[in-house]
Amino acid sequence: MPNEKRVAYVTGGSRGIGRAIVHALAGANCHVVAAARNAQTLEVVVAEEKSAGHSVEAQTVDIANAPALAASIEGVVAQHGRLDILVNNAGITRDGLFLRMEDKDFDDVIATNLKSAFVAARAAARSMIRARWGRIINIGSVSGIIGNAGQVNYSASKAGLIGLTKSMARELSGKQVTVNCVAPGFITTDMTEVLPPMIREKVLELIPLKRFGEPSDIAAMVAFLAGDAAAYVTGQVIAVDGGMSM
Ligand code: NAP
Repeated sequence: MPNEKRVAYVTGGSRGIGRAIVHALAGANCHVVAAARNAQTLEVVVAEEKSAGHSVEAQTVDIANAPALAASIEGVVAQHGRLDILVNNAGITRDGLFLRMEDKDFDDVIATNLKSAFVAARAAARSMIRARWGRIINIGSVSGIIGNAGQVNYSASKAGLIGLTKSMARELSGKQVTVNCVAPGFITTDMTEVLPPMIREKVLELIPLKRFGEPSDIAAMVAFLAGDAAAYVTGQVIAVDGGMSM
């Protein structure tokens, strides 16, 4: 018996931006599968969402492990009889100047941030094509649009997501499956918490809206793109960055 609610799969759904996306989509009456590596953090998310009356489950998976990621998504499709919304959100940084960057730091970032989106979308798309309705939303970054010193690996992965988004959008458009990329600016999460105060102050100067973003700023755009109101939007890169990349 297929799930009556739209089913969404959100990678990196345990913390930061992904956590806010899980909450927003569950609040929009979706059944949400939150995926991440740490099972304990996910358990807390599921409990919090359930107490808010939302329908959320966890999948413990390392998205850099392509077969494991594909199996996780295929399992969700088999269990619920559908997968309507895929949010490729999980990402990592391994910053450093490129002259000194190790191959591993380049390869790990590409595998986690870019290849995973291809693997997940390939596993998810069949169900969407069958239903003639689907949403694939890739979380990019302003770094993929304007570049960032110390982040050649990360910027390349996020720029790669833009190409992936546009090509995939063209391939899936005839089936009413949309593919878009949301490019956050500087958002307050564990990822940015580690940056020294001096860097944070410098970044703040570059943000026309004069504040760092909140995970909910990104989640609101994702929830819009995931809904019926965004049916005519595909292949787009939407910066949610306080004006940083304009
Ligand atoms: P975060 O706070 O570091 O959270 C990352 C999430 O991804 C966690 O849930 C983490 O859970 C999961 N994750 C990381 N590696 C994973 C793996 N190999 N397999 C499965 N799950 C994994 O990051 P964030 O700031 O929310 O960033 C979310 C996305 O937004 C990323 O793609 C990031 O590049 C992008 N972004 C962020 C900012 C920003 O300013 N924060 C700006 C632009 C773009 P586990 O550790 O338990 O696996």
